Amino acid sequence: MASRSRLIAEVDFDRDGVQHGAVRLFHSVHASAYGFIPLPIVVIRNGEGPTAVFIGGTHGDEYEGQVAIAKLARSLRSEEIRGRVILFPQANHPAAMAGLRTSPIDGGNLNRLYPGDPDGTVTQQIAFWIEHELMPRADLVADLHSGGSSLMYLPTALMKFSDNAAMQARTRAALEAFGAPRAYIARGTQGQGADQNSSGAAERNGVVMIGSELGGSGTVTPAALRIAERGLNNLLVHLGILPPERRIAPDTKTRVFEVGGHDYFVYATQEGVFEPLVELGDTVAKGQPAARIHTPETPWREPAEMTFGHDGVVLCQRIPGRTTRGDCLFHLGTDLMES
Ligand code: CA
Repeated sequence: MASRSRLIAEVDFDRDGVQHGAVRLFHSVHASAYGFIPLPIVVIRNGEGPTAVFIGGTHGDEYEGQVAIAKLARSLRSEEIRGRVILFPQANHPAAMAGLRTSPIDGGNLNRLYPGDPDGTVTQQIAFWIEHELMPRADLVADLHSGGSSLMYLPTALMKFSDNAAMQARTRAALEAFGAPRAYIARGTQGQGADQNSSGAAERNGVVMIGSELGGSGTVTPAALRIAERGLNNLLVHLGILPPERRIAPDTKTRVFEVGGHDYFVYATQEGVFEPLVELGDTVAKGQPAARIHTPETPWREPAEMTFGHDGVVLCQRIPGRTTRGDCLFHLGTDLMES
């Protein structure tokens, strides 16, 4: 079944120079019968060479990637590169324009819908286009995320653990080239099928992919944005698209963590007000109190207390105070033990 994407790119991926435009996602609605949703895209090409694909706005309320990729779209000239850079700063454009994690049109979470469906909802159609039209053109994909509205991260680059040793080594080299102060390698999938996210799509395409969790809280932080900009620049140097003298030296060597299974995560056991008992970056021990959940509507009731299930460093924390049972409050990382 050679089912093809219905989306149409306004840019020619094989033409030299700088092209701006949209990938047209046709969406017939009451106010616009023949209209399309414009997914912004920039192609910068100068002859034969490797291709970098930089994706932002997979989740619409994660902004460092969107801003860093837009800055690159304005600053990078075709004469200074060799090969091709494809910039896709608002992958889920409807979600990004609404400042939401998920699409206001179909509720779709782009990073849970791969490999997508060419005949599906708008978000399924975007996933299909990225997996079947965008990623096959890439030598390296960076899909830049942050914590979104509900989480805050220490600025972190990340990659998925691969059983393929050669792919693992190539991805690890890209992760170190990105130059974030911290990075983690994800082993667990927290109940989400890893095959449904962009890492799964990249794996099916046999392409190196790194991700990030740059900050969060539904805002842009200057430190996280600097890390994103430097990281994208250094990935272009790593690929040979920019010359070596363009590398921007990171402040520190990347400290690499791993994020293991469910015991690295702390979840709320009841509804109420979340009181964190530790800070991002703290080193914690298994059994240490992590959070209390208060019920100020019944102030005589003792708060529930959650503890950490593993030793580690706090990489991620929930932001909103109001919390319900099942919310993720923290997750940890542990220093990667090199074998
Ligand atoms: Ca995200």
